[in-house]
Amino acid sequence: MKYLKEILAIIDEHSHQKFPILKPEERQSLLEVYHPDNSPRGKEELTFGPNKGQLLPKELLNIMLKTYNYPMVMEEDETDLLVIGSGGAGISAALEAVSKKVKVMLVTKDKVGASNTVLARGGMAVALGTEDLPSIHIEDTLKAGNSNNVKLVDVMTREALNIVPWLEKMGMDFDKVDENKYRLIAGAGHSQKRVMTYKGFIGPRLMKTLINALRNSRVNVVPFNQSVELICEENQCLGAVVYDRLKHEYKKIWAKAVVLTTGGLGGLNPLGFPTCNHGSICGEGLAIAYKSGVKLIDMDSSQFHPTGALWPEPIKGMLISEGVRSLGASLYNALGKQFVNPLETRDVVTAAIIKEIIEERGIKLPQGEMGIIMNSYALPEEALRKSLGNIYTKLLRHGYNPQTTPIIVGPTYHYQNGGLAIDDNGRTTIKGLWAAGEVTGGIHGKNRLGGNALTDALVFGRRAGYDAAQMI
Ligand SMILES: Cc1cc2nc3c(=O)[nH]c(=O)nc-3n(C[C@H](O)[C@H](O)[C@H](O)COP(=O)(O)OP(=O)(O)OC[C@H]3O[C@@H](n4cnc5c(N)ncnc54)[C@H](O)[C@@H]3O)c2cc1C
Repeated sequence: MKYLKEILAIIDEHSHQKFPILKPEERQSLLEVYHPDNSPRGKEELTFGPNKGQLLPKELLNIMLKTYNYPMVMEEDETDLLVIGSGGAGISAALEAVSKKVKVMLVTKDKVGASNTVLARGGMAVALGTEDLPSIHIEDTLKAGNSNNVKLVDVMTREALNIVPWLEKMGMDFDKVDENKYRLIAGAGHSQKRVMTYKGFIGPRLMKTLINALRNSRVNVVPFNQSVELICEENQCLGAVVYDRLKHEYKKIWAKAVVLTTGGLGGLNPLGFPTCNHGSICGEGLAIAYKSGVKLIDMDSSQFHPTGALWPEPIKGMLISEGVRSLGASLYNALGKQFVNPLETRDVVTAAIIKEIIEERGIKLPQGEMGIIMNSYALPEEALRKSLGNIYTKLLRHGYNPQTTPIIVGPTYHYQNGGLAIDDNGRTTIKGLWAAGEVTGGIHGKNRLGGNALTDALVFGRRAGYDAAQMI
């Protein structure tokens, strides 16, 4: 990228000036025209099923229309409860159900624990502060989401308090300020400090805890088995067809109940955006449940992180946190000019970057992707090291000096706000089919608060596992 040097020279001349904060009406019109939720770009109309006529990312539509040529006769197996997926929601459902003495099988597409849960960084929201209450957590969640299902939010915020001792009993650690007090940090949209953390990277610790408990349980765990269809007759779910990715064989698994926990669709690079999601998260659960008749809600709403790294290559897909911008890094287009205040909210920064790219003021990367420049290199070394975290060390390891290298960033798909409609026990409208976690909709409305996704996955995973076990 020869021309990067020339742009950097112009940037340096003006780097002390900050772009002004937008007026409310300017912000609104930017969002209306350029935010992916409000634009038909990359979407197609759904031509069948309960949401017929709605627009969906075309990548998800392709998954819905995909057909599998499996043989009429195939190997068969059976269990009481079949859990599909091994993220936070799936393992929680399996553990809860197996403790009720039912026979549980968990199938998962990749190796056990490969998921978005293991990638979670910031933390998990629980109303544990001295001034905090679940009712305040509800208020904050509803204010952000706008169209949430109040009953689901009520259950999530109250039961979050039980999740903490449940996890700790299995060996989970959270950061503490002293022996009896958790470290709780602030999160955008949370009116109280309520995000529980673990050493700046909660996902791997959480997943290790859940997987250890799973290995010590009687759950029959079957990795590398991808569910490709639900077996449903007369609005009753009877099991699923799975594809064994190692043996290249299809199998029918009959079950008295099925809990679907396959996460969102970020691995599809929805709407053509880069993604920070795990590669196994491809909307398949949404597709198979929808084809069986479960309604989708709030699928017009996705969360983007405005500053996912596009270059240097070794950090591609990693998220550059708001912390870097709040410490002073700004965003520049190919003309070397700022176009948005770096402290605007995520949706506004996302829309502003998309505008620059559409209007051809983006930086073109060798692979054809377009991004904009973040001048993180201008921050003092200590601040940059702390705010970039493992991205800093990764850059160094690959021969890039973070103190001189600009990072090219762009909007990156982060989270699916909507999904399958469920009730407060995780039941779908199909008898015998439950769903939990990111595959569902309603809890976060059209805008999820940071930290609420882990809470949702664990609370509703457990509830679905418990309720399904009771029905067997
Ligand atoms: C980079 C990143 C950082 C995040 N940070 C936070 C955070 O700090 N706090 C927070 O609250 N949230 C965070 N989130 C969101 C949160 O991690 C997820 O929303 C949540 O963990 C989802 O849990 P889940 O169990 O529903 O799905 P996942 O954890 O995504 O698990 C889905 C599982 O289903 C499997 N699967 C998929 N398709 C199939 C199929 N067809 N057959 C069988 N198995 C299948 C997958 O392999 C996976 O095991 C973050 C997300 C990302 C990507």
